[in-house]
Amino acid sequence: MKYNPVLNFIDGEFTDSSSTRKIEVISPVDGELLSTVPMSSKIDLQNAVKSAKNAFPAWSRMPIKERVQVFFRFKTLLENNLNSLAQLCSEENGKTLGESIAEIEKCIELTEFATSLPQLVAGEIMEVSKGVECRTEHAPLGVVASIVPFNFPAMVPCWTIPNAIVLGNCMILKPSEKVPLCSGRIAELLKVAGLPNGVFNIVHGDVEIVEAICDHPDIQAVSFVGSTKIAKIVYQRATHNFKRCLALGGAKNHLMVLPDAIPGMTAQNVAASMSGCAGQRCMAASAMVAVGDVDPIIDKICEEARKIVPGKNLGAVINKASKERIEHYISEAEKQGAKILVDGRNAKVDGKENGTYVGPTVIDYVKPDMAVAKEEIFGPVISIMRTKTVDEALAIENANPYGNAASVFTQNGGAARYIMERASAGMIGVNVGVPVPREPFPFGGWNDSKFGVGDITGKSSIEFWTKLKKSTTKWNPEAGVNWMS
Ligand code: NAD
Repeated sequence: MKYNPVLNFIDGEFTDSSSTRKIEVISPVDGELLSTVPMSSKIDLQNAVKSAKNAFPAWSRMPIKERVQVFFRFKTLLENNLNSLAQLCSEENGKTLGESIAEIEKCIELTEFATSLPQLVAGEIMEVSKGVECRTEHAPLGVVASIVPFNFPAMVPCWTIPNAIVLGNCMILKPSEKVPLCSGRIAELLKVAGLPNGVFNIVHGDVEIVEAICDHPDIQAVSFVGSTKIAKIVYQRATHNFKRCLALGGAKNHLMVLPDAIPGMTAQNVAASMSGCAGQRCMAASAMVAVGDVDPIIDKICEEARKIVPGKNLGAVINKASKERIEHYISEAEKQGAKILVDGRNAKVDGKENGTYVGPTVIDYVKPDMAVAKEEIFGPVISIMRTKTVDEALAIENANPYGNAASVFTQNGGAARYIMERASAGMIGVNVGVPVPREPFPFGGWNDSKFGVGDITGKSSIEFWTKLKKSTTKWNPEAGVNWMS
């Protein structure tokens, strides 16, 4: 085993779980056994919540300008440890080193945004009647929880950790059991940065811990990122227990390509969007609607896809089950009459025979009722559907239950605007394959891609992680009394 067994992080210390149940952490890159991760019990969660609750009064009363100093130091530590963190991220998740470096750079950007929060949360004050002032302040919620998926072992935790904690909350993180290693390094760096014990805790585990988080009376808010199926379960359970909840789900992102799109740029964007992180991004292009005659662009997309080579510039998918599931989708589409233009099935990487690779796959003549057209595949696969008009393309996009992202490729501003207005997705791209809004703009989809109000990052996070206190004050008796004050 390459690394020591993964431990929980409670009250500033790496701690054994009270449960003996463990699962293996296998690298998708080559099948190497990296570590084991505990499937913690409710007792571990209770201990973590107790520690967070104890830490909350001192942490929340510390002025935000002092709290934020920890995250200035954390940002420097991320920069200094970028390569080793990226290496670990690649090993546990399977993405390429370049993609992992970009992921850690994104963690740095997210932390940088959190350090601007003191400037953004300053409250308002106004004399509302003679001698009477109203003021608002953003108060932290208390102990909060963040449940995260496997596809970004460092970035998705950093969507919530810096903002929630700078805003004065104490957090329990529940990492994905498939990629538990990076979060431990994040905990170490936060400790070195000077974060007091108990402000940040990690409890590893599976469904038992997620349910215990949703049920724990001392957890005030739950953020979740993962599949739609589990997002719905978590949202229902957490809100049933009167907690604030924001649950981000899966996606099926449509790219609409118009005949006047610039072929080279479009092909590069489409290929990069479908294959980046082996297609395991909630912002990945998964369906393309070819409007009219765009065959020369499709040829170029295939050319670009063939340049993407597993083990070189394409990472592995998370595990064997995922590889089999993705390949099954491709085979079913083929059986139903779709045409496989570039086939990524049975990909092998020399020297990494136990790695779980799927090559880039371009499927043409897909019908909207096929599974590859409707369902999230979460692999480097794009399904091309053909329509005659933009309205038909929009009807396909609008009919899918998700709503994370949609993009249009065209040189016609009017057509782009028409699609921007009508696509049913929270994040829209024009000539952009992965339209992720960068800080301070918030990240979040619509429809079945997100449950709850607001978005998870950027300025939206302030509303989620705080509650507004409104104070009315009067110090001079001559101000008198009226029915409003
Ligand atoms: P997942 O839903 O299987 O797991 C997410 C988290 O839920 C993990 O921590 C996991 O341990 C926990 N979990 C799993 N099964 C559970 C159950 N039955 N009850 C309670 N908790 C459970 O998701 P994943 O496979 O880790 O990640 C991939 C999914 O995440 C994709 O659908 C992807 O689109 C989505 N995702 C969405 C966004 C977004 O911003 N919308 C971002 C990243 C990933």
